[in-house]
Amino acid sequence: MDCLFCKIIKGEIPSTKVYEDDKILAFRDINPQAPTHILVIPKEHIDGVDALNEENAAVVAHIFAKIAEIAKNEGLVNGFRVVSNVGEDGGQTVRHLHFHILGGKKLDTQMA
Ligand code: AMP
Ligand code: ZN
Repeated sequence: MDCLFCKIIKGEIPSTKVYEDDKILAFRDINPQAPTHILVIPKEHIDGVDALNEENAAVVAHIFAKIAEIAKNEGLVNGFRVVSNVGEDGGQTVRHLHFHILGGKKLDTQMA
């Protein structure tokens, strides 16, 4: 499968890793939209939030537990935003489930 984030997981494309374990990887977004912009992805390929189900969704709980840790490590004590774009209307450009962590400044309240 020709998936950019699967290639990052395999190390075929370099990334700046922030956290990794056997189930997930967190790395810095190549085109940061805030002072801190990190992507958190499952190592298992899942297309997006629209492809989650009772069988594969447990990894999302793990991702969110680690998002809390990563945000603390990044010093995001004043808050941050977690975003997952889904499909074409949602603006998803990489079709591998990912959660953006955005922070390090007061974010725009405009959501759409
Ligand atoms: P989305 O538009 O929600 O699908 O998010 C995809 C994100 O992946 C964008 O914010 C891109 O800047 C980011 N991105 C694309 N290629 C890379 C890469 N090689 N390394 C890190 N981030 C990337
Ligand atoms: Zn993938």
